[in-house]
Amino acid sequence: MQVFEQVESQVRSYCRNWPTVFATARGSRITDEDGRSFLDFFAGAGALNYGHNHPVIKEALLAYLTEDNVVHTLDTYSGAKTRFLEAFRDLVLAPRNLDYKVQFPGPAGNNAVEAALKLARKVTGRETVVSFTNGFHGMTLGALAVTGNSMKRGGAGVALNNTATMPFDNYMDGRTPDFLWLRSLLEDPGSGLDKPAAVIVETVQGEGGINVASDAWLRGLESVCREHDLLFIVDDIQMGCGRTGPFFSFERSGISPDIVTLSKSLSGMGLPFALTLMKPHLDVWEPGEHNGTFRGYAPAFVTATAALETFWRNDTLTDQVADSADWLDGELRGIAETHGDLGISTRGRGLARGLVFDEPRHAALVCQEAFANGLLMETSGAEDEVVKFLPPLTTTREEFEEGTAIVREAVATVAKDPELRGDAGEERA
Ligand SMILES: *Cc1c(COP(=O)(O)O)cnc(C)c1O
Repeated sequence: MQVFEQVESQVRSYCRNWPTVFATARGSRITDEDGRSFLDFFAGAGALNYGHNHPVIKEALLAYLTEDNVVHTLDTYSGAKTRFLEAFRDLVLAPRNLDYKVQFPGPAGNNAVEAALKLARKVTGRETVVSFTNGFHGMTLGALAVTGNSMKRGGAGVALNNTATMPFDNYMDGRTPDFLWLRSLLEDPGSGLDKPAAVIVETVQGEGGINVASDAWLRGLESVCREHDLLFIVDDIQMGCGRTGPFFSFERSGISPDIVTLSKSLSGMGLPFALTLMKPHLDVWEPGEHNGTFRGYAPAFVTATAALETFWRNDTLTDQVADSADWLDGELRGIAETHGDLGISTRGRGLARGLVFDEPRHAALVCQEAFANGLLMETSGAEDEVVKFLPPLTTTREEFEEGTAIVREAVATVAKDPELRGDAGEERA
């Protein structure tokens, strides 16, 4: 591990909580170089919805490479791209009656977000984009400007502007009508808010702490957009590809976003791959206006196609997610109730779930304990107060039982050890 400290930048982060060298992985398990096996309830921050190295997806990639098929193609046509676009049209868009043009914006989620923001500004000729408290959209400057987290924003080193932040669902006191503030600003010529080009929102904020927007809230937001002629962008990078059940997280709410971003689990096995989807009338790009070297990464087309064909021909995975989510929710509620004195609550949708701690330190300690006992989990939220569950959607009930037993133990350890809790003084007082 010495080489990491010696050579790799300080910016490295996840490895600090999981100080081991990972070697192999399959399904919901990952093994380190010493042969220690971990259950993975982080799943590459939602990039591994179908688990590590799914055998069918991996086989498709190996076969593609063995036959010397093209790997790098800029955006020239290839058989791999043909098959991906056909599968995406036939298995994702058509069955949902969705009419979107598909843009390959570059390999990472932030590329998809940048393309979405640029397109919204180009279409409307306006600059401001409305984003939401605790939103997360990536680290490049445009995406960072619509991201809430102050530490991440601070890394920009320049002003992050042309944006306005509004309260996400449940941010206020619950008594103020949800869109009172946004509507007032839009309608008041004295408000100081330049007419926005678009709003960008996650249906469930993953990095922001598993904050769930209700269907009614999303429909309300869509109404505001329609009334004021703003484009409605849904960033489905983490919550898409079945994380909440359906392929797109917004399907259940009945909204019809103008622009949608996808990445993370899109390639099916953790290869970089992202899409920006736009309603056809918004496709006003000039050829090459948003360019990039890695927009035609054939290995990701191949694995993404295999993933769509394996998991999205029917509703089996969606049903399985609903089932697992119900069960996991029950377990987490149980844990929260057992340790009422720690002040824990639960939230989430589908297999994006959170255990929310009054005291952020406790969330970190639970993750640390879980790691020591063979389970990978991360925290999220503005103060890292949420233990975040993003298990592979394919995780079996036995694996869920094993994982939640480790969580229960970890919470119990934190609960009974005042030293560990760091509030021994308070207890004495
Ligand atoms: C991860 C994420 C991004 C950024 O994707 P990168 O690949 O890290 O650039 C954007 N939006 C959401 C909602 C994400 O979860």
